[in-house]
Amino acid sequence: MKIKSIKGVKDILPGEIEKWQWTESVAHQIFTRYGFNEIRLPIFEDTNLFKRSIGDTTDIVEKEMYTFRDKGDNDLTLRPEGTASVVRSYIEHNMHGQNPLTKLYYFGPMFRYERPQAGRLRQFYQIGVEAMGSQSPAVDAEVITMLIEFFKALGLNDLELQINSLGCKNCRPQYRETLKAAIEPHLNELCTNCNQRYKRNPLRVLDCKVPQDVKIAKGLPKIKDHLCAQCEEDFAQVRRFLDAVHTAYTVNDQIVRGLDYYNKTTFEVISKTGLGSQNAVCGGGRYDSLVEDFDGPPTPCFGFALGMERLISLLPEEKLQSLSTPPDLYLVSLGEEAQNLAFATAHQLRAVGLYVERGFEDGSMKSQMRKANKLASRFALIVGDDEIKNQRYLLKNMDGGEQWEVSANALAEEVLEHLKSLD
Ligand code: ATP
Ligand code: MG
Repeated sequence: MKIKSIKGVKDILPGEIEKWQWTESVAHQIFTRYGFNEIRLPIFEDTNLFKRSIGDTTDIVEKEMYTFRDKGDNDLTLRPEGTASVVRSYIEHNMHGQNPLTKLYYFGPMFRYERPQAGRLRQFYQIGVEAMGSQSPAVDAEVITMLIEFFKALGLNDLELQINSLGCKNCRPQYRETLKAAIEPHLNELCTNCNQRYKRNPLRVLDCKVPQDVKIAKGLPKIKDHLCAQCEEDFAQVRRFLDAVHTAYTVNDQIVRGLDYYNKTTFEVISKTGLGSQNAVCGGGRYDSLVEDFDGPPTPCFGFALGMERLISLLPEEKLQSLSTPPDLYLVSLGEEAQNLAFATAHQLRAVGLYVERGFEDGSMKSQMRKANKLASRFALIVGDDEIKNQRYLLKNMDGGEQWEVSANALAEEVLEHLKSLD
């Protein structure tokens, strides 16, 4: 029986992983400048954590969660997103009251039972960021700007930042009713999903992807015309800050986000060219009452999550070439004695920091040099019977062709010197 990976779940193989490692290292670098620290969270949690935070009537909770009972009959779920766990951890470890703010980021896999297709997997990876403990619109603008700086550092310039405000608990309930009243006459033209949404979560109608519904949604009342004075001012302030640092954006009043906990500033980053219909690379926004909903202290928050697979697929192919590291040195050993010696020689050279490759089977000079070439090794070290007898090995520059004799008893030092002289 051949066992295969599960549908919608992928291996990330060497050749591809270099892009992931690089992307993660750039994230560490940029986020650190803004004072964010990494947090590692569990992959599974109590099912109620997700039900209560993401919302019972959302697609994620209704259709997409991997929920199971373990042998102790605990109701558990593989995390479909990261914010709920960050909030749980924040409260559990009393992180509130930190000055200037609690600023966290995470990397890791998320699980959603969706229809697998290009850009949509059942296990996918996210980078997430959460800034917890301030209402200031400057936080919104700073976190968004950090994200854009991250994209720039990756060489991605073809992305569009779209922002919106969803209002707050003072203005949204009223807008919700206005919207419901405006949707009602269209119910028989809208899809069955939207008929459900109308009852339970009418804002989601604005987010529907069915073409006919998109047309109707365009004519519905806009949240921007129904914001309270405070929300309007805060949203204007976010835009002024973004303008001040030339972070380009467009206002898209159709953005509502698929999770219940968002309010005020929300945003998405989409790729206009590279991703087809799964074009959202990143989504996020403000969630000011989630911590309190879980009996934590009042803690307004702002965060985002970005999809690694979609992001990685946008990285230029040339980037990959510059990321793969060729060996510093390939050990060519001719004859049995040299083969045996190669074990200790490789060890000795690796101990001084070199990336050393070797073959484990006997082979002719020609075939071993071919392997060294194939790996694009910078140097070859040739050891045969004569070299062992004379205690002088041959170091060859694979690029220029020069070669030097290096003495066996000062091998590491001499090899390092030659390598350095060519850098
Ligand atoms: P979409 O509208 O594409 O379903 P979403 O609103 O469900 O996205 P979020 O929950 O905001 O997505 O997650 C943030 C990001 O994670 C998305 O912008 C996307 O890049 C990525 N993402 C979400 N679901 C998947 C998935 N099933 N496979 C791959 N990436 C995903
Ligand atoms: Mg989704």
